[in-house]
Amino acid sequence: MNRGMAAIFRCIQGALAPLLLLAGGPALSAPREAPLEARLRAHVEVLASDDFEGREPGTEGEAKTLRYLGKQWFDIGLVSGTNDPGNEWFAPVTLVAREPASSSAQFARKGRRQYVPKAAVLMLTSGNRSLVKDAPLLFVGKGRGPVPDRSELAGRVALLLDGDGGDSSRQDALLAAGASAVLTVLDGDRSLDSVAARRKRSGYALADDNVGGDLEGFITQEGMIRLLQGSGMTLADLERKAGRPEFVPEVLDITGTLEATTRETKIRTYNLIGKLPGRKRDSGAVLLLAHWDAFGICGDETAEDRICNGAIDNASGIAVLTEAARILARGPRPERDIYFLATTSEELGLLGAHAFAENPPLPINQIVAAFNIDSIAIAPRGSPAVIVGKGLTSLDSRIAAVAKREKRKIVDSSEANAYVKRQDGWALLQHDIPTVMVTSAYADLAKMEAFFEGDYHRPSDDLKRPIEFGGAADDVLLHVALARWFADTRKVPSAAAK
Ligand SMILES: [Zn+2]
Repeated sequence: MNRGMAAIFRCIQGALAPLLLLAGGPALSAPREAPLEARLRAHVEVLASDDFEGREPGTEGEAKTLRYLGKQWFDIGLVSGTNDPGNEWFAPVTLVAREPASSSAQFARKGRRQYVPKAAVLMLTSGNRSLVKDAPLLFVGKGRGPVPDRSELAGRVALLLDGDGGDSSRQDALLAAGASAVLTVLDGDRSLDSVAARRKRSGYALADDNVGGDLEGFITQEGMIRLLQGSGMTLADLERKAGRPEFVPEVLDITGTLEATTRETKIRTYNLIGKLPGRKRDSGAVLLLAHWDAFGICGDETAEDRICNGAIDNASGIAVLTEAARILARGPRPERDIYFLATTSEELGLLGAHAFAENPPLPINQIVAAFNIDSIAIAPRGSPAVIVGKGLTSLDSRIAAVAKREKRKIVDSSEANAYVKRQDGWALLQHDIPTVMVTSAYADLAKMEAFFEGDYHRPSDDLKRPIEFGGAADDVLLHVALARWFADTRKVPSAAAK
Protein backbone atom coordinates (compact mmCIF):
# COMPACT_ATOMS: atom_id res chain seq x y z
CA MET A 1 0.00 0.00 0.00
CA ASN A 2 1.13 3.45 -0.88
CA ARG A 3 1.50 5.42 2.35
CA GLY A 4 1.17 8.74 0.58
CA MET A 5 -2.24 7.77 -0.73
CA ALA A 6 -3.42 6.66 2.69
CA ALA A 7 -2.62 10.07 4.10
CA ILE A 8 -4.32 11.82 1.22
CA PHE A 9 -7.50 9.83 1.64
CA ARG A 10 -7.57 10.37 5.36
CA CYS A 11 -7.48 14.06 4.42
CA ILE A 12 -10.36 13.67 1.99
CA GLN A 13 -12.43 11.76 4.50
CA GLY A 14 -11.47 14.30 7.11
CA ALA A 15 -12.43 17.20 4.89
CA LEU A 16 -15.76 15.64 4.05
CA ALA A 17 -16.61 14.61 7.58
CA PRO A 18 -17.67 18.06 8.81
CA LEU A 19 -19.64 18.58 5.60
CA LEU A 20 -21.44 15.30 6.14
CA LEU A 21 -22.66 16.55 9.50
CA LEU A 22 -24.42 19.53 7.94
CA ALA A 23 -28.14 18.87 7.76
CA GLY A 24 -30.09 19.68 4.64
CA GLY A 25 -27.29 19.35 2.11
CA PRO A 26 -26.28 22.21 -0.18
CA ALA A 27 -27.26 25.82 0.34
CA LEU A 28 -30.56 26.90 -1.20
CA SER A 29 -29.19 30.17 -2.49
CA ALA A 30 -26.90 28.56 -5.08
CA PRO A 31 -25.66 30.94 -7.75
CA ARG A 32 -27.32 30.90 -11.15
CA GLU A 33 -26.18 27.94 -13.17
CA ALA A 34 -24.39 28.09 -16.44
CA PRO A 35 -26.05 26.11 -19.21
CA LEU A 36 -25.52 22.37 -19.26
CA GLU A 37 -22.84 22.43 -21.94
CA ALA A 38 -20.77 24.93 -20.01
CA ARG A 39 -21.04 22.78 -16.88
CA LEU A 40 -19.85 19.75 -18.81
CA ARG A 41 -16.97 21.74 -20.23
CA ALA A 42 -15.99 22.98 -16.77
CA HIS A 43 -15.73 19.41 -15.44
CA VAL A 44 -13.64 18.24 -18.38
CA GLU A 45 -11.38 21.29 -18.06
CA VAL A 46 -10.60 20.35 -14.49
CA LEU A 47 -10.38 16.58 -14.83
CA ALA A 48 -8.35 16.60 -18.04
CA SER A 49 -6.01 19.37 -16.95
CA ASP A 50 -2.30 18.60 -16.73
CA ASP A 51 -2.60 19.19 -13.00
CA PHE A 52 -4.48 15.87 -12.70
CA GLU A 53 -1.59 14.06 -14.41
CA GLY A 54 -3.73 11.68 -16.42
CA ARG A 55 -5.72 10.36 -13.42
CA GLU A 56 -3.71 7.22 -12.85
CA PRO A 57 -4.88 4.93 -10.04
CA GLY A 58 -2.75 5.21 -6.90
CA THR A 59 -1.27 8.60 -7.76
CA GLU A 60 -1.78 12.19 -6.64
CA GLY A 61 -3.88 12.50 -9.82
CA GLU A 62 -6.35 10.04 -8.32
CA ALA A 63 -6.51 11.97 -5.06
CA LYS A 64 -7.25 15.20 -6.95
CA THR A 65 -9.88 13.50 -9.09
CA LEU A 66 -11.72 11.97 -6.15
CA ARG A 67 -11.48 15.12 -4.07
CA TYR A 68 -13.05 17.09 -6.92
CA LEU A 69 -15.78 14.56 -7.68
CA GLY A 70 -16.58 13.82 -4.05
CA LYS A 71 -17.18 17.52 -3.43
CA GLN A 72 -19.29 17.87 -6.59
CA TRP A 73 -21.48 14.92 -5.72
CA PHE A 74 -21.88 16.02 -2.12
CA ASP A 75 -22.87 19.55 -3.21
CA ILE A 76 -25.37 18.09 -5.67
CA GLY A 77 -27.09 16.42 -2.72
CA LEU A 78 -26.13 12.79 -3.21
CA VAL A 79 -25.36 10.66 -0.18
CA SER A 80 -22.64 8.05 0.17
CA GLY A 81 -23.60 4.90 -1.69
CA THR A 82 -20.99 2.56 -0.26
CA ASN A 83 -23.36 1.36 2.50
CA ASP A 84 -20.19 1.00 4.55
CA PRO A 85 -19.88 3.40 7.51
CA GLY A 86 -16.13 2.70 7.63
CA ASN A 87 -15.66 3.88 4.05
CA GLU A 88 -18.11 6.64 3.15
CA TRP A 89 -18.19 7.56 -0.54
CA PHE A 90 -14.85 5.95 -1.40
CA ALA A 91 -14.92 2.15 -1.66
CA PRO A 92 -11.35 0.84 -1.46
CA VAL A 93 -10.08 -1.40 -4.24
CA THR A 94 -6.72 -3.11 -3.84
CA LEU A 95 -4.84 -3.93 -7.00
CA VAL A 96 -1.76 -5.98 -7.46
CA ALA A 97 0.64 -4.94 -10.18
CA ARG A 98 2.99 -7.69 -11.24
CA GLU A 99 6.11 -6.82 -13.15
CA PRO A 100 8.37 -9.45 -14.64
CA ALA A 101 11.36 -9.89 -12.30
CA SER A 102 13.39 -12.83 -13.54
CA SER A 103 13.35 -15.26 -16.43
CA SER A 104 15.42 -18.34 -17.06
CA ALA A 105 15.34 -21.14 -19.60
CA GLN A 106 17.64 -24.13 -19.90
CA PHE A 107 17.29 -26.82 -22.50
CA ALA A 108 18.72 -30.31 -22.86
CA ARG A 109 18.83 -32.98 -25.53
CA LYS A 110 19.43 -36.59 -24.57
CA GLY A 111 20.41 -35.42 -21.10
CA ARG A 112 23.01 -32.94 -22.36
CA ARG A 113 22.72 -29.20 -22.05
CA GLN A 114 21.70 -27.49 -25.30
CA TYR A 115 23.05 -23.94 -25.22
CA VAL A 116 20.73 -21.06 -26.08
CA PRO A 117 21.83 -17.48 -25.33
CA LYS A 118 20.07 -16.01 -22.32
CA ALA A 119 18.94 -12.99 -24.34
CA ALA A 120 17.09 -15.22 -26.84
CA VAL A 121 14.37 -16.41 -24.45
CA LEU A 122 11.91 -14.53 -22.26
CA MET A 123 9.80 -16.40 -19.72
CA LEU A 124 6.78 -14.72 -18.09
CA THR A 125 4.31 -15.81 -15.45
CA SER A 126 0.90 -14.53 -14.42
CA GLY A 127 1.65 -15.52 -10.80
CA ASN A 128 4.48 -14.91 -8.36
CA ARG A 129 6.76 -17.73 -9.50
CA SER A 130 6.36 -20.55 -11.98
CA LEU A 131 8.76 -23.37 -12.65
CA VAL A 132 8.67 -26.32 -15.04
CA LYS A 133 11.49 -28.90 -14.78
CA ASP A 134 12.83 -31.13 -17.55
CA ALA A 135 9.58 -31.04 -19.51
CA PRO A 136 9.60 -32.39 -23.09
CA LEU A 137 8.79 -29.93 -25.87
CA LEU A 138 5.68 -30.77 -27.88
CA PHE A 139 5.63 -29.01 -31.23
CA VAL A 140 2.01 -28.01 -31.91
CA GLY A 141 2.43 -26.07 -35.17
CA LYS A 142 1.45 -22.52 -35.95
CA GLY A 143 -0.34 -19.82 -33.98
CA ARG A 144 -3.65 -21.10 -35.25
CA GLY A 145 -4.89 -24.64 -35.11
CA PRO A 146 -6.61 -27.20 -32.93
CA VAL A 147 -5.68 -27.74 -29.29
CA PRO A 148 -4.40 -31.26 -28.46
CA ASP A 149 -5.93 -33.38 -25.69
CA ARG A 150 -5.00 -32.85 -22.06
CA SER A 151 -3.27 -36.25 -22.04
CA GLU A 152 -0.95 -35.08 -24.79
CA LEU A 153 -0.26 -31.66 -23.23
CA ALA A 154 0.13 -32.54 -19.55
CA GLY A 155 3.70 -32.27 -18.30
CA ARG A 156 4.88 -30.82 -21.59
CA VAL A 157 5.89 -27.47 -23.00
CA ALA A 158 3.79 -26.64 -26.05
CA LEU A 159 6.08 -25.12 -28.69
CA LEU A 160 4.46 -23.12 -31.47
CA LEU A 161 5.33 -20.73 -34.26
CA ASP A 162 4.03 -17.16 -33.92
CA GLY A 163 0.72 -16.75 -35.66
CA ASP A 164 -1.48 -13.73 -35.76
CA GLY A 165 0.83 -10.86 -34.92
CA GLY A 166 0.57 -11.24 -31.19
CA ASP A 167 -2.89 -12.74 -30.79
CA SER A 168 -2.43 -15.04 -27.80
CA SER A 169 -5.68 -16.97 -27.99
CA ARG A 170 -4.11 -20.28 -28.94
CA GLN A 171 -1.43 -19.95 -26.27
CA ASP A 172 -4.16 -19.29 -23.72
CA ALA A 173 -6.14 -22.29 -24.96
CA LEU A 174 -3.07 -24.55 -24.74
CA LEU A 175 -2.43 -23.48 -21.16
CA ALA A 176 -6.10 -23.90 -20.26
CA ALA A 177 -6.03 -27.38 -21.81
CA GLY A 178 -3.20 -28.47 -19.52
CA ALA A 179 0.16 -27.60 -21.08
CA SER A 180 2.80 -27.02 -18.37
CA ALA A 181 4.04 -24.01 -20.33
CA VAL A 182 3.89 -22.56 -23.82
CA LEU A 183 6.87 -21.36 -25.82
CA THR A 184 6.29 -19.21 -28.89
CA VAL A 185 8.90 -18.80 -31.63
CA LEU A 186 8.67 -15.11 -32.59
CA ASP A 187 8.19 -14.52 -36.31
CA GLY A 188 10.59 -11.57 -36.52
CA ASP A 189 7.83 -8.93 -36.54
CA ARG A 190 7.83 -8.98 -32.76
CA SER A 191 10.88 -8.62 -30.54
CA LEU A 192 11.31 -9.86 -26.98
CA ASP A 193 11.45 -6.20 -25.91
CA SER A 194 8.05 -5.45 -27.41
CA VAL A 195 6.56 -8.54 -25.79
CA ALA A 196 7.97 -7.47 -22.42
CA ALA A 197 6.73 -3.88 -22.83
CA ARG A 198 3.23 -5.06 -23.63
CA ARG A 199 3.23 -7.33 -20.64
CA LYS A 200 3.95 -4.43 -18.28
CA ARG A 201 0.56 -2.89 -19.02
CA SER A 202 -1.40 -6.10 -18.63
CA GLY A 203 0.01 -7.21 -15.29
CA TYR A 204 -2.75 -5.83 -13.07
CA ALA A 205 -5.32 -7.78 -11.08
CA LEU A 206 -7.57 -7.35 -8.07
CA ALA A 207 -5.70 -8.39 -4.93
CA ASP A 208 -8.41 -10.94 -4.07
CA ASP A 209 -8.34 -12.62 -7.47
CA ASN A 210 -6.64 -15.91 -7.99
CA VAL A 211 -4.11 -15.10 -10.70
CA GLY A 212 -2.94 -18.66 -11.28
CA GLY A 213 0.61 -19.21 -12.40
CA ASP A 214 0.63 -19.72 -16.14
CA LEU A 215 4.11 -19.96 -17.61
CA GLU A 216 4.51 -18.41 -21.01
CA GLY A 217 7.69 -18.00 -22.99
CA PHE A 218 9.02 -16.47 -26.17
CA ILE A 219 12.11 -17.42 -28.12
CA THR A 220 13.71 -15.55 -31.00
CA GLN A 221 14.32 -17.24 -34.36
CA GLU A 222 18.08 -17.19 -33.72
CA GLY A 223 17.47 -18.81 -30.35
CA MET A 224 15.33 -21.50 -31.95
CA ILE A 225 17.98 -22.21 -34.56
CA ARG A 226 20.52 -22.72 -31.74
CA LEU A 227 18.08 -24.94 -29.88
CA LEU A 228 17.62 -27.23 -32.88
CA GLN A 229 21.35 -27.47 -33.63
CA GLY A 230 22.48 -31.08 -33.85
CA SER A 231 18.92 -32.42 -33.75
CA GLY A 232 18.84 -33.10 -37.48
CA MET A 233 15.92 -30.72 -37.75
CA THR A 234 15.86 -27.05 -38.73
CA LEU A 235 13.43 -24.21 -38.12
CA ALA A 236 12.49 -24.40 -41.79
CA ASP A 237 11.56 -28.07 -41.26
CA LEU A 238 9.24 -27.09 -38.42
CA GLU A 239 7.63 -24.40 -40.58
CA ARG A 240 7.13 -26.87 -43.41
CA LYS A 241 5.59 -29.47 -41.13
CA ALA A 242 3.27 -26.94 -39.52
CA GLY A 243 2.02 -25.86 -42.94
CA ARG A 244 0.88 -29.32 -43.95
CA PRO A 245 -2.83 -30.10 -43.72
CA GLU A 246 -2.07 -33.52 -42.19
CA PHE A 247 0.10 -31.96 -39.45
CA VAL A 248 -0.08 -33.67 -36.06
CA PRO A 249 1.70 -32.51 -32.89
CA GLU A 250 5.14 -34.02 -32.42
CA VAL A 251 7.25 -34.54 -29.29
CA LEU A 252 10.80 -33.26 -29.88
CA ASP A 253 13.79 -34.84 -28.18
CA ILE A 254 14.39 -31.60 -26.29
CA THR A 255 13.45 -30.85 -22.69
CA GLY A 256 13.15 -27.47 -21.03
CA THR A 257 13.60 -26.23 -17.47
CA LEU A 258 11.81 -22.91 -17.47
CA GLU A 259 11.23 -20.40 -14.74
CA ALA A 260 9.76 -16.94 -14.33
CA THR A 261 9.13 -14.74 -11.32
CA THR A 262 7.37 -11.42 -10.82
CA ARG A 263 7.71 -8.49 -8.48
CA GLU A 264 4.49 -7.49 -6.79
CA THR A 265 3.34 -4.01 -5.86
CA LYS A 266 0.04 -3.26 -4.16
CA ILE A 267 -1.95 -0.25 -5.26
CA ARG A 268 -4.74 1.12 -3.11
CA THR A 269 -7.32 2.89 -5.22
CA TYR A 270 -11.01 3.77 -4.90
CA ASN A 271 -14.40 3.55 -6.55
CA LEU A 272 -16.55 6.57 -5.76
CA ILE A 273 -20.15 5.58 -5.01
CA GLY A 274 -22.97 8.08 -4.50
CA LYS A 275 -26.67 7.50 -4.11
CA LEU A 276 -29.91 9.36 -4.62
CA PRO A 277 -32.18 7.57 -2.15
CA GLY A 278 -35.52 6.49 -3.56
CA ARG A 279 -38.82 6.86 -1.71
CA LYS A 280 -39.89 3.23 -1.98
CA ARG A 281 -37.77 0.94 0.16
CA ASP A 282 -36.55 -2.35 -1.22
CA SER A 283 -37.90 -1.65 -4.67
CA GLY A 284 -34.53 -2.08 -6.35
CA ALA A 285 -32.07 0.33 -7.86
CA VAL A 286 -30.80 1.90 -11.06
CA LEU A 287 -27.06 2.33 -11.58
CA LEU A 288 -25.27 4.94 -13.68
CA LEU A 289 -21.51 4.59 -14.01
CA ALA A 290 -18.42 5.95 -15.72
CA HIS A 291 -14.73 5.32 -15.15
CA TRP A 292 -12.67 8.16 -13.70
CA ASP A 293 -9.22 6.76 -14.47
CA ALA A 294 -7.02 7.44 -17.47
CA PHE A 295 -3.55 6.41 -18.55
CA GLY A 296 -1.41 8.68 -16.40
CA ILE A 297 1.91 9.86 -17.74
CA CYS A 298 2.16 7.59 -20.73
CA GLY A 299 3.69 9.43 -23.67
CA ASP A 300 7.16 8.67 -25.05
CA GLU A 301 9.90 9.73 -22.70
CA THR A 302 11.22 12.13 -25.29
CA ALA A 303 7.84 13.69 -26.08
CA GLU A 304 7.09 17.26 -25.00
CA ASP A 305 3.59 16.36 -23.78
CA ARG A 306 3.55 13.06 -21.93
CA ILE A 307 0.30 13.32 -19.96
CA CYS A 308 -2.54 11.16 -21.21
CA ASN A 309 -5.25 13.53 -19.97
CA GLY A 310 -8.17 11.37 -21.07
CA ALA A 311 -10.47 14.27 -21.97
CA ILE A 312 -12.84 12.19 -24.10
CA ASP A 313 -11.83 8.94 -22.38
CA ASN A 314 -13.31 9.45 -19.88
CA ALA A 315 -13.51 12.93 -18.36
CA SER A 316 -16.45 13.40 -20.72
CA GLY A 317 -18.29 10.38 -19.29
CA ILE A 318 -17.65 11.50 -15.70
CA ALA A 319 -18.96 14.96 -16.61
CA VAL A 320 -22.14 13.44 -18.08
CA LEU A 321 -22.59 11.23 -15.02
CA THR A 322 -22.19 14.20 -12.66
CA GLU A 323 -24.60 16.47 -14.54
CA ALA A 324 -27.19 13.68 -14.82
CA ALA A 325 -26.90 13.32 -11.04
CA ARG A 326 -27.47 17.05 -10.57
CA ILE A 327 -30.66 17.09 -12.67
CA LEU A 328 -31.99 13.91 -11.05
CA ALA A 329 -31.28 15.23 -7.56
CA ARG A 330 -33.29 18.39 -8.26
CA GLY A 331 -36.26 16.59 -9.78
CA PRO A 332 -39.04 14.61 -8.14
CA ARG A 333 -37.75 11.89 -5.86
CA PRO A 334 -37.65 8.56 -7.70
CA GLU A 335 -39.13 5.39 -6.25
CA ARG A 336 -35.98 3.33 -6.62
CA ASP A 337 -32.53 4.29 -5.39
CA ILE A 338 -30.30 5.64 -8.12
CA TYR A 339 -26.63 4.78 -7.63
CA PHE A 340 -23.81 6.75 -9.21
CA LEU A 341 -20.52 4.94 -9.58
CA ALA A 342 -17.22 6.41 -10.74
CA THR A 343 -15.02 3.37 -11.26
CA THR A 344 -11.28 3.08 -10.93
CA SER A 345 -8.90 1.07 -13.11
CA GLU A 346 -11.10 0.52 -16.15
CA GLU A 347 -8.01 0.99 -18.27
CA LEU A 348 -6.19 -1.76 -16.35
CA GLY A 349 -8.83 -4.36 -17.23
CA LEU A 350 -12.25 -3.15 -15.96
CA LEU A 351 -10.95 -3.85 -12.46
CA GLY A 352 -12.96 -1.24 -10.55
CA ALA A 353 -16.20 -2.48 -12.11
CA HIS A 354 -15.28 -6.07 -11.24
CA ALA A 355 -14.51 -4.99 -7.67
CA PHE A 356 -17.91 -3.24 -7.42
CA ALA A 357 -19.72 -6.36 -8.61
CA GLU A 358 -17.72 -8.66 -6.35
CA ASN A 359 -18.27 -6.51 -3.29
CA PRO A 360 -21.47 -4.60 -4.08
CA PRO A 361 -23.11 -2.07 -1.76
CA LEU A 362 -26.49 -3.67 -2.44
CA PRO A 363 -27.62 -7.15 -3.49
CA ILE A 364 -26.77 -7.31 -7.15
CA ASN A 365 -30.11 -8.75 -8.21
CA GLN A 366 -31.77 -5.53 -7.03
CA ILE A 367 -30.18 -3.55 -9.87
CA VAL A 368 -32.88 -3.42 -12.52
CA ALA A 369 -30.73 -1.60 -15.06
CA ALA A 370 -27.22 -0.16 -15.33
CA PHE A 371 -25.99 2.39 -17.85
CA ASN A 372 -22.29 2.86 -18.48
CA ILE A 373 -20.98 6.12 -19.90
CA ASP A 374 -17.60 6.01 -21.62
CA SER A 375 -15.98 8.36 -24.15
CA ILE A 376 -19.10 10.21 -25.00
CA ALA A 377 -18.50 13.71 -26.39
CA ILE A 378 -17.72 12.54 -29.93
CA ALA A 379 -20.90 13.24 -31.91
CA PRO A 380 -22.46 16.72 -32.22
CA ARG A 381 -25.76 17.88 -30.76
CA GLY A 382 -28.79 16.32 -32.43
CA SER A 383 -27.09 12.99 -33.20
CA PRO A 384 -28.95 9.69 -32.86
CA ALA A 385 -27.91 7.17 -30.20
CA VAL A 386 -27.09 3.46 -30.19
CA ILE A 387 -27.26 0.74 -27.57
CA VAL A 388 -23.83 -0.87 -27.14
CA GLY A 389 -24.72 -4.29 -25.74
CA LYS A 390 -27.99 -4.49 -27.67
CA GLY A 391 -29.51 -7.94 -27.45
CA LEU A 392 -27.54 -8.89 -24.34
CA THR A 393 -30.15 -7.69 -21.81
CA SER A 394 -33.90 -7.33 -21.73
CA LEU A 395 -33.62 -3.54 -21.50
CA ASP A 396 -33.65 -2.72 -25.22
CA SER A 397 -37.38 -2.25 -25.85
CA ARG A 398 -37.80 -0.04 -22.79
CA ILE A 399 -34.79 2.04 -23.79
CA ALA A 400 -36.33 2.47 -27.23
CA ALA A 401 -39.59 3.64 -25.64
CA VAL A 402 -37.78 6.21 -23.46
CA ALA A 403 -35.74 7.47 -26.41
CA LYS A 404 -38.91 7.90 -28.43
CA ARG A 405 -40.51 10.02 -25.70
CA GLU A 406 -37.34 12.09 -25.62
CA LYS A 407 -37.41 12.43 -29.41
CA ARG A 408 -34.02 10.73 -29.66
CA LYS A 409 -33.52 8.38 -32.52
CA ILE A 410 -31.95 4.99 -31.72
CA VAL A 411 -30.13 3.54 -34.69
CA ASP A 412 -28.98 0.00 -35.39
CA SER A 413 -25.92 -0.96 -33.37
CA SER A 414 -24.78 -4.34 -34.55
CA GLU A 415 -21.37 -2.92 -35.52
CA ALA A 416 -21.05 -0.88 -32.33
CA ASN A 417 -21.63 -4.09 -30.38
CA ALA A 418 -18.10 -5.14 -31.39
CA TYR A 419 -16.93 -2.77 -28.64
CA VAL A 420 -19.04 -4.25 -25.86
CA LYS A 421 -16.11 -6.02 -24.18
CA ARG A 422 -14.01 -2.88 -24.04
CA GLN A 423 -16.03 -1.08 -21.37
CA ASP A 424 -17.02 -1.46 -17.74
CA GLY A 425 -20.51 -2.67 -18.66
CA TRP A 426 -18.92 -5.92 -19.75
CA ALA A 427 -17.59 -6.59 -16.25
CA LEU A 428 -21.06 -5.99 -14.79
CA LEU A 429 -22.67 -8.24 -17.40
CA GLN A 430 -20.37 -11.07 -16.21
CA HIS A 431 -22.11 -10.70 -12.85
CA ASP A 432 -25.59 -10.69 -14.42
CA ILE A 433 -26.17 -6.97 -13.91
CA PRO A 434 -28.16 -5.88 -16.98
CA THR A 435 -25.85 -3.18 -18.35
CA VAL A 436 -25.67 -1.30 -21.64
CA MET A 437 -24.17 1.90 -23.01
CA VAL A 438 -26.71 4.22 -24.59
CA THR A 439 -24.58 6.73 -26.44
CA SER A 440 -24.42 9.14 -29.32
CA ALA A 441 -20.67 8.51 -29.67
CA TYR A 442 -20.97 5.09 -31.29
CA ALA A 443 -23.86 6.17 -33.52
CA ASP A 444 -21.31 7.67 -35.90
CA LEU A 445 -18.96 4.71 -35.89
CA ALA A 446 -16.58 6.25 -38.43
CA LYS A 447 -16.01 9.20 -36.10
CA MET A 448 -15.57 6.93 -33.09
CA GLU A 449 -13.10 4.73 -34.92
CA ALA A 450 -11.18 7.81 -36.05
CA PHE A 451 -10.85 8.66 -32.35
CA PHE A 452 -9.63 5.13 -31.55
CA GLU A 453 -7.07 5.39 -34.35
CA GLY A 454 -6.03 8.90 -33.34
CA ASP A 455 -6.05 10.60 -29.94
CA TYR A 456 -7.33 7.61 -27.94
CA HIS A 457 -4.95 6.65 -25.10
CA ARG A 458 -2.49 9.31 -26.27
CA PRO A 459 -1.40 12.64 -24.79
CA SER A 460 -3.50 14.31 -27.52
CA ASP A 461 -6.79 13.17 -25.91
CA ASP A 462 -6.80 16.54 -24.18
CA LEU A 463 -8.61 19.87 -24.21
CA LYS A 464 -7.01 20.94 -27.49
CA ARG A 465 -8.96 18.35 -29.49
CA PRO A 466 -12.59 18.97 -30.50
CA ILE A 467 -14.98 17.87 -27.75
CA GLU A 468 -18.68 17.81 -28.61
CA PHE A 469 -20.32 19.13 -25.47
CA GLY A 470 -23.59 19.49 -27.38
CA GLY A 471 -23.74 15.77 -28.03
CA ALA A 472 -22.73 15.09 -24.44
CA ALA A 473 -25.53 17.38 -23.20
CA ASP A 474 -28.06 15.40 -25.27
CA ASP A 475 -26.76 12.25 -23.63
CA VAL A 476 -27.12 13.77 -20.15
CA LEU A 477 -30.81 14.38 -20.81
CA LEU A 478 -31.28 10.89 -22.22
CA HIS A 479 -29.66 9.33 -19.14
CA VAL A 480 -31.84 11.43 -16.85
CA ALA A 481 -34.91 10.14 -18.72
CA LEU A 482 -33.63 6.55 -18.62
CA ALA A 483 -32.85 6.71 -14.90
CA ARG A 484 -36.30 8.17 -14.11
CA TRP A 485 -38.07 5.55 -16.21
CA PHE A 486 -36.21 2.58 -14.79
CA ALA A 487 -36.54 3.96 -11.25
CA ASP A 488 -40.32 3.92 -11.60
CA THR A 489 -41.83 0.64 -10.37
CA ARG A 490 -45.01 1.08 -12.42
CA LYS A 491 -43.10 1.62 -15.64
CA VAL A 492 -40.59 -1.12 -14.86
CA PRO A 493 -41.71 -3.78 -12.41
CA SER A 494 -38.57 -5.56 -11.18
CA ALA A 495 -39.44 -9.01 -12.45
CA ALA A 496 -40.14 -7.69 -15.93
CA ALA A 497 -36.84 -5.86 -16.15
CA LYS A 498 -34.79 -8.96 -15.49
ZN1 LIG B 1 -12.74 4.52 -21.41
